[in-house]
Amino acid sequence: MIGSERFAVALTCIDGRIHDPLRAWALRTLSVDVLDLVTVQGPDGVMSSTDDEWIDRLADRVKVSRHAHNSIHLVVASHTDCAGHPVDEGQHHHDVGLAASRMRSLLPQMTVVAVHVAQVEHGWVVIPVDCGALEVVRA
Ligand SMILES: [Zn+2]
Repeated sequence: MIGSERFAVALTCIDGRIHDPLRAWALRTLSVDVLDLVTVQGPDGVMSSTDDEWIDRLADRVKVSRHAHNSIHLVVASHTDCAGHPVDEGQHHHDVGLAASRMRSLLPQMTVVAVHVAQVEHGWVVIPVDCGALEVVRA
């Protein structure tokens, strides 16, 4: 039974280092209580280069959160030092933006935000890359 909690969902890497900072950013920025996770290694690489069937399958996983938890926001996240998509930061920014736009076309009822979780000296920071129609203050 779902109470009054508000949900968003992230399509993110399996890499556990980024889950806590991503969750903290999403809860604060999107004003939700819970961030569901759909994980795949290097989602920006998968979504910018692979076939439609794979992307449809990932969208279906996001839709479970959409329908079960009424998630209205999807965060697509790339990150530094990604084993699943080992490219430089600029390529991650490009690919995660492309991934978000592909998800937008499949999930028109959701707002889709692309972020890059960057490794810095003392941890990780979430950098909004493409917020679509959503107003997000860039840190
Ligand atoms: Zn990764």
